[in-house]
Amino acid sequence: MEAYDVNELFARCDASGSYDIDKIKRAYHLAEDLHRGQKRISGEDYIIHPIAVAQIVYECQLDTNSICAAFLHDTVEDCPDRITLAEIRTQFGKDVADIVDGVTKLNIPFETKQEASIRNLRKMFLAMSKDLRVIFVKLADRLHNMRTLSVRTPEKQRSIALETMHVYAPIAHRLGIQRIKQELETLALSYLDPIGFQEIRKDTDKRYGESKDFLAEATRKVAESLNAYGIRYKLEGRVKSIYSIYKKMYNQNKSFDEIYDFYALRILVDTELDCYTVLGVIHEMFNSMPGRFKDYISTPKQNLYRSLHTTVIGSEGIPFEVQIRTWEMHAVAEYGLAAHWKYKSGEQANQALDEKLQWIRALLETDADGSDPDEFLHSLKIDLFEDEIFVFTPKGDVVSLPAGSTPIDFAYAIHSAVGNKMVGAKLNGNIVPIDTVLQTGQIVEVLTNPNSKGPSRDWLSFVRSSEARSKIKMFFKREMRTENIEFGKQAIDRELRRYGHRYTDQQRDQIMANLALRMGYAEGDDLYNSIGFGGMEIVKLGTKLREEFNRLVVPEQEPKAKAPALKTENSEREDRKARKSSESVIVDNVEGCAVKFAKCCSPLPGDRIIGFITKGYGISIHKYDCINVQNGLKRPEDRDRWVTASWTIRAEKRAFGGFEAYLNVYATYTPSVIAEISIALRDMKVEITSFSTKENDDVIIMTVGVRCNDTDHLASIIGSLKKLQAVRDVTRGNA
Ligand code: MN
Repeated sequence: MEAYDVNELFARCDASGSYDIDKIKRAYHLAEDLHRGQKRISGEDYIIHPIAVAQIVYECQLDTNSICAAFLHDTVEDCPDRITLAEIRTQFGKDVADIVDGVTKLNIPFETKQEASIRNLRKMFLAMSKDLRVIFVKLADRLHNMRTLSVRTPEKQRSIALETMHVYAPIAHRLGIQRIKQELETLALSYLDPIGFQEIRKDTDKRYGESKDFLAEATRKVAESLNAYGIRYKLEGRVKSIYSIYKKMYNQNKSFDEIYDFYALRILVDTELDCYTVLGVIHEMFNSMPGRFKDYISTPKQNLYRSLHTTVIGSEGIPFEVQIRTWEMHAVAEYGLAAHWKYKSGEQANQALDEKLQWIRALLETDADGSDPDEFLHSLKIDLFEDEIFVFTPKGDVVSLPAGSTPIDFAYAIHSAVGNKMVGAKLNGNIVPIDTVLQTGQIVEVLTNPNSKGPSRDWLSFVRSSEARSKIKMFFKREMRTENIEFGKQAIDRELRRYGHRYTDQQRDQIMANLALRMGYAEGDDLYNSIGFGGMEIVKLGTKLREEFNRLVVPEQEPKAKAPALKTENSEREDRKARKSSESVIVDNVEGCAVKFAKCCSPLPGDRIIGFITKGYGISIHKYDCINVQNGLKRPEDRDRWVTASWTIRAEKRAFGGFEAYLNVYATYTPSVIAEISIALRDMKVEITSFSTKENDDVIIMTVGVRCNDTDHLASIIGSLKKLQAVRDVTRGNA
């Protein structure tokens, strides 16, 4: 529909049956009337523009009111003497009027500001338009303006292209509208770096010309196999967009020839199950590149994108990416949210708020009964930045702060010197207490006095931004060293007194000097200082403080157990209770050691473990019954390198978001067996981290990497997989 034929648009809307075609026509005729006589810079009739915007909005699968608003989006601003918002509201209802109003308000003048304000502008933009349809119409408006940018002056071309690249394309990305995002980026690039753009276009055309046969061959082969399986599909061969090649070349400093994911094959199928079946077929036909398999079906991207990705090696050793998704996933990938709504609006309306789309659900106001599409779209009124506020400096610059921030946060966001000399604040011109909570839209003025002694320690208890917090701490660190050291000593005394043994100041200072050394401070005073200004919490000294205390003050206490003698279960458990480690493993009674989990056995909380001091860096943690451990313990030369290890309480309480484990799944081969396993895991909400298969006659052996909490969790996963009909056995394996 590049030709912008309004009658064709009407015909399509009419044919689909889900539009109020009379209302759409009324909106068009009104727009045509209002813009009559107006010309675009190109000399064309102005109405061409609203028609094009309406068409793009229609392609984004939006509703009647959005299309009406698209037709009318420039009328209020351009023809103020002919129509008002109130008039649009009377004729077309509140929704259409609100969208038109939103689109008009978003004409924020753009000046080339520093990066930070561009980021803020983008956020403001989203925050200001609570109805997502406003953004869609705005993006469509921008897209058509970009398509027709060639008639503008070079200066205008540049500033509009820059704004498109920095503000509009990222918003399209955030909303998952790939189709618009890519076109905006490519168009913007062609104006921002015309030479680079042309070069890549030439290279792309050339490479594509040379490899037509390769792509055709791969496509033919895949089609043949899929036909054999009787799967309904659509195949699309595609090459990477010019802008994404450009980005790779410039950001990663690669030459054109080093872009190896240049080709992609996209396979669209009917059902999710088919996706996994096709994946199996592809992996059977081609060798896959390790580490390139991504399952965005079981774990969708934040912008709702779902698809399977894998990279395989084709004939002549040319790698290419294969994307496998259903039609519905494809529509969501191309048009984002709106498509999602459209597909789900039928029988599954309530499931539209699928649990995997949590971020969207969080953005939606509760609208449990979303069966009416208009209702549902209406409920897309969002507050994307609930956790963030925007306030202004007296000069009108935007400052973004975490919700709950105070004028102190604001002052430190401006500059630490402003914060450190702050004595008061004004909100919208009125003096307020400095701990007043700020609201979006307020103008904040900081009152300073060069004689101010600096921030108060109390401020730390009510500032919200980490920036203010760290700058205040920095102040105390720099300016108040003597005082901080004294504070630090007092705090340590309070802690040591709890141990119930008498000690001298010299002993205390020696303990701290030892600790300082162990922790990478130059001297004891630095550690006191750090405790004094709040940079180091005493809790974090943890058992180290106790250890040094025991060593220097209570030497008669029993010496701690030495490796490699492993402790009994009971004493180990008691040790664990005594500690609150922030790490998952305690090695040789010391928490927070640099550890890594051995790939040969991938230990999980619940496994008995042991550590091995590697020659490189850190300690590798094995399962105690790992074959490498059993062999290794026999080697006398390594004896000193084995150390006791145990899980911390936090690890056992599942505080670490999962550990990687591997399963060997032995199954009778069927075309759908891979799909069944993947779906079973997904239903258990188990994330798949890797997947590879081997075949042996009619048995398929799958090695599946999964993320799980501990041995119990893994056992339940194994138990569930074993229940599947095709599955013969499941064992714990390794990478
Ligand atoms: Mn416009």
